[in-house]
Amino acid sequence: MELDALTATDGTAHSADLCIVGAGPAGLTLAHALADAGLHIIVLESGADGDAATRELNVGWNIGDPMADLRESRARSVGGTSVLWDTVRGGVAGAKYVPLDAIDFTKRDELPWSGWPITRASLDPWYQRAQSLLGLGRFDASDVTWSDRQHPLLPFRPDGLTSTAYQWGPADTFRRRIPDALRASTSVMLIRNATVTELVGGDGASITEVRWAAFSGVRGTVRATRFVLAAGAIENARLLLASRIPRANPDGWLGRGLMEHPIDRSLRLVSRHPALSPRPGFYAPFGTGRRAHVIGRIGCSDGLLRADRLWNASLRLFPIRERRLVRTAKRLVSLVGGAPVTGYRVLLDLEQAPHRENRVVLADQRDALGVPRVVLHWRWGAEDEANRQRVLAAVVREFSVSGAGQMAVVLGLPVDPDVHHHAGTTRMHDDPQAGVVNPDLRIHGLENLFVIGASVFPTAGVANPTLTIVALGLRLADYLRQA
Ligand SMILES: Cc1cc2nc3c(=O)[nH]c(=O)nc-3n(C[C@H](O)[C@H](O)[C@H](O)COP(=O)(O)OP(=O)(O)OC[C@H]3O[C@@H](n4cnc5c(N)ncnc54)[C@H](O)[C@@H]3O)c2cc1C
Repeated sequence: MELDALTATDGTAHSADLCIVGAGPAGLTLAHALADAGLHIIVLESGADGDAATRELNVGWNIGDPMADLRESRARSVGGTSVLWDTVRGGVAGAKYVPLDAIDFTKRDELPWSGWPITRASLDPWYQRAQSLLGLGRFDASDVTWSDRQHPLLPFRPDGLTSTAYQWGPADTFRRRIPDALRASTSVMLIRNATVTELVGGDGASITEVRWAAFSGVRGTVRATRFVLAAGAIENARLLLASRIPRANPDGWLGRGLMEHPIDRSLRLVSRHPALSPRPGFYAPFGTGRRAHVIGRIGCSDGLLRADRLWNASLRLFPIRERRLVRTAKRLVSLVGGAPVTGYRVLLDLEQAPHRENRVVLADQRDALGVPRVVLHWRWGAEDEANRQRVLAAVVREFSVSGAGQMAVVLGLPVDPDVHHHAGTTRMHDDPQAGVVNPDLRIHGLENLFVIGASVFPTAGVANPTLTIVALGLRLADYLRQA
């Protein structure tokens, strides 16, 4: 069922077995997966229709390198930030989905603070269930599955670059399909326009209630046995910091290790290889006819990452086409569609290290509902840049030695940080000194407060985060069902 906090006439004290804060992909996945668990679940969602006042709650500042306005990179609404997704196929908005690589979970000497307390193999069963929930094709990013005679592959050497794939899925899953299922459920109550302003009780070993507020002036509380924060990487940290919960380790990693997936745009490719000339084939979006929509990309093998001491990286190719001048009945027009490809622009997705000094802190100023706003400290550090230069050198070399094409480098271009993949502010670790949540996603030192979303990523690889968020959400649902 669904309630609108704006139409409530007075503050309400609700109680539940489980209270979830946030109805983005993380919170919706969790509520949906537990809807048949015999629990009474309340989901509190700050937004509803993306109105201006709610959007202003996302105002914050960055005092490091320039970054996108925090109102542009996140949304408050049922569906969360999925309402902003901009990968469009056939006029339908959606997202690119791809799992983290096995190596992303491992400890690597060259990547500071690396090493997840879980392995990729242990997460695979939930990745598979996530694929199905998201309406994707087979859980398999390998070139063998998706390439064929019409879509040949570049001839990379075995320990060099790899051909791999994203799958595309519609945003409707989070904007409509799962919310509608929750509205029809008798065990889940979704309360929209209810912004959580404080978690209460954290000076003991557990949280007792959350307080919420609506723009109408109505305030309410939810008491619950267990609570899950699913408010996005920046808001998860903001709520924990603002609630001053000593056990959430504000002097340790809470708010720290903020990461993005910056893009380098300094490479141009010229290739006469049949995989790319005259058309991009596998490396362009195409439907396989096997229900899945696959977008080819180029990754790095474990061998290459280890030999060159690289952090993870991935490439996407965008055709540059010859312009043709065509005379129509009325005028001379310039056409590019269907014209021969003369080269490729390369978008190089880069991993960033989880630096302690990249973090979310609270500002003195408060938002309209009284919660301190955020200030991000985010920089592309010297180690990040040194790694970028190693990746660029490796990519140029690997294309050349494999005969896949020749890369040219445009010097001096800065990275573009605005990929909107915030991660890492409540990182997962076995050791409370090195993280905020344990491998079950429970805050170290608190019995009943859990966190879900990219904030729990200790490192973020280069994979777009939502498939992993959904897999971790399904894993947390199984844990909460049994615990
Ligand atoms: C333009 C764009 C394109 C993207 N494309 C992709 C892509 O192709 N693939 C991909 O994997 N990822 C993509 N992302 C990133 C993706 O949207 C996020 O990783 C994902 O939405 C995170 O899910 P979440 O549920 O953790 O957080 P969110 O989606 O941010 O949802 C959090 C929810 O919590 C609510 N909330 C926040 N604070 C409170 C509070 N105090 N009380 C109550 N509710 C609260 C918010 O209103 C929001 O609805 C893209 C992002 C953008 C901006």
